[in-house]
Amino acid sequence: MGKVIAPLVAKEVSNANRLAEEKGVVHIRQILESVAPELLEKKEQKRREGLPELPNLGSKKPVLRFAPNPNGPLSFGHSRGLVINGEYAKDLDGELILRFDDTDTTVKPPMLSAYESIPKQQEELCGFPAHRIVIASERMDEYHEYAKKSIETDFAYICTCSGDDFREFRLKNENCPCRTNSVAKNLELWDKMNRVDGFNPGEAVLRMKTGMEQKNPALRDWPAARIQINPHPRVGDKWRVWPLLDFQSAIEDHLQGVTHIIRGKDLMDSTRKQKLLYEHFGWTYPETIYWGRVKVHEFGSFSTSQMKKDIAEGIFVDWDDPRLPTLSALFRRGIKPEALRSFWIELGLTQKDIAVPLSTLYSHNTKAIEPIAPRLAFVRNPVKIQLSGKYPSNLSLSSHPETEMDSRQIIIQSSIFVEKEDSDKPIRLKDFCDISADGVVESIDRSDKRPIVHWVSQGKETTLKIAEDKEINEVTGILETHAYPKGTIVQLERIGYAIIEDDGLLMVHD
Ligand SMILES: [Zn+2]
Repeated sequence: MGKVIAPLVAKEVSNANRLAEEKGVVHIRQILESVAPELLEKKEQKRREGLPELPNLGSKKPVLRFAPNPNGPLSFGHSRGLVINGEYAKDLDGELILRFDDTDTTVKPPMLSAYESIPKQQEELCGFPAHRIVIASERMDEYHEYAKKSIETDFAYICTCSGDDFREFRLKNENCPCRTNSVAKNLELWDKMNRVDGFNPGEAVLRMKTGMEQKNPALRDWPAARIQINPHPRVGDKWRVWPLLDFQSAIEDHLQGVTHIIRGKDLMDSTRKQKLLYEHFGWTYPETIYWGRVKVHEFGSFSTSQMKKDIAEGIFVDWDDPRLPTLSALFRRGIKPEALRSFWIELGLTQKDIAVPLSTLYSHNTKAIEPIAPRLAFVRNPVKIQLSGKYPSNLSLSSHPETEMDSRQIIIQSSIFVEKEDSDKPIRLKDFCDISADGVVESIDRSDKRPIVHWVSQGKETTLKIAEDKEINEVTGILETHAYPKGTIVQLERIGYAIIEDDGLLMVHD
């Protein structure tokens, strides 16, 4: 009976998986709801273990966005936003927008290479390409249009007060003199902001008329656009007046139909500022979910600007230097996208600030790489032992205990290498034979409880690089002969996982 049913079940399961891939899990749910609603209960529970339901989604498809500043390549911290937004988009058959918030040319000037690396890494991490890519610096017409609309509807004014003066007004809940400009006057000043022979940077800003009486000082007539004259690496000096992030992001979320924003709780004021703008225009603000900070101690002291400086000074080799917490470094070091995904999903969306050790990420990664990493022997501080007695001249050793990887064909020469600390005593050469302290083969079968050690017969001197904090330590040894290509993750007996690079091995983790 089982023999007949099993293939049928297997076929249905593979059909369901294919459907899920093609049409999304939501589609499968719809089928299940009509044919077998009892099966869904378990599914619901499973879902709650990971990410919570998106609030007020109803029957809509969610539109989510991940909006990095391309002032540098993506780091570990960015992977959270990518994973969480990506998972929701994928799970709920929605859309993920990858948006470059690149309108700050002064403090965080964009880095051209990031426009290429970020979409690639997004796809690698999420497992699918973003449904839309939006580059803010190419959408400046829209932001200018809404800036002008804000002025025309008397919801914005050009403020020519100095920063210090406005701070005073803001503290005292007082209007600045510019607040009573007529619309015509504001339009004239807006024009002057945009003209090369007009205002200089810092002489005028566009402010939203959200109210100087607001209880929260951050919400009082917040600035929406300012003058920047450093050329933008993509659009040069085409624009003089650039939106600030709260304004640009608010307008773009509306134009793109974003339904849910997931952001740090430190950005609650941004939500409040933007809601006032949405109210003015009669728009519906996206549902907002906040998360607390996640601190990984080992990655604590890195910032994009500091890394940029350190790389320029040669302290780190490049952005993929294995000591750095960039995504390129993590991927190079053999951290798998699925490990980052399960790491962030397991942490979920709590508003609490939490500290997590890097070893937690490593244990997720072990689950991803253990089944695919072939075993290899790497002998540190090698000592040559001359063998004597009777033993087979070749052996077939398993590459992995649980999978059907091709086995390793070992040719035994007259000598083998073991680690120095394993020499000068009777040992068992793992999966081979028992030998005496001076290399006499005493038994092919295990004959007593002598220590089992790993060994290499034919191999090549190889360096294993280990990134530890801000150091790279190097260990040399003899690596068993193999034919694995660059990028293969192998499990080194008694050491841990390492990835094969052009010039040797790079430690993944133990
Ligand atoms: Zn003013």
